[in-house]
Amino acid sequence: RMDFTGKTVLLTGGAGGLGIDTALGFAGAGAKVIVLDIRDDRGSDLLSRAAALGNGSVVYEHLDLSDQAELKRGLDRIVAEHGAVDILINNAAIYPAKPFEDFTLEEHRAVQAVNVDAHVQCAMSLLPGMRQRGWGRIINVASITFYGGWDKLFPYVSSKGALVGLTRAWAREFGQYGVTVNAVAPGAFPTDAEKIHPDPDGYTRFVLDHQALKRRGSPQDIASTMMFLASDHASFITGQTINVDGGWVMK
Ligand code: NAD
Repeated sequence: RMDFTGKTVLLTGGAGGLGIDTALGFAGAGAKVIVLDIRDDRGSDLLSRAAALGNGSVVYEHLDLSDQAELKRGLDRIVAEHGAVDILINNAAIYPAKPFEDFTLEEHRAVQAVNVDAHVQCAMSLLPGMRQRGWGRIINVASITFYGGWDKLFPYVSSKGALVGLTRAWAREFGQYGVTVNAVAPGAFPTDAEKIHPDPDGYTRFVLDHQALKRRGSPQDIASTMMFLASDHASFITGQTINVDGGWVMK
């Protein structure tokens, strides 16, 4: 069983479909988990589920990642209040879906602001604490859509490509500080993200057709991968993108 007692995790978008289980997983293993999100309804649901764990703890912070100035101030305040963060999980994302011709440049930029820029800011604000301790973990949440492209989703797909690039660049640069940087690329998980598909049953058939494993993924599958990558069991793994997709993409 993994033990994260004494570790602080910062998880963006942690009130979302995949994030909640990751937050509860780390808290259940003794960590203090700070969740940044704007979905306060699901944030309070998360807090009540965390209270029942009685082990680690979850702190919910309403913080809009699309507001760079607010985010930077918020991160400074969080570090002042809770101390250095050991494990940063860059998980929040938005995924507007429509044909290329219907997107504006502003909409494209708005996706990069949340999915990419906010996470660059998180790394900028939190790396100094990791560096000082000589230990840290950064996990970026990518997506298998990056490999095959995906129609009607170009700002999202390009943002996920950027996260894979950041993973490699940061891994190369931060290794000397004892900080590993990896990405997790989920396949298709039944969360809100899936509601962009109009026919749920047809979509499930499509997913199971593509996966080697003939069951739908669960948020637990993501949580356990995050915990492995954050643990000392994964201390020699850096710069990698791990596909957690039931064997959809094999590379
Ligand atoms: P989700 O929409 O349920 O969760 C995303 C969370 O990010 C939400 O709680 C949302 O409120 C938060 N968020 C969005 N904009 C924000 C902002 N401006 N400020 C603060 N918080 C903000 O989606 P999910 O399925 O839990 O996805 C989690 C991650 O996994 C994302 O990076 C997503 O791209 C990735 N992913 C998911 C799937 C899937 O099938 N669910 C597949 C591939 C990748």
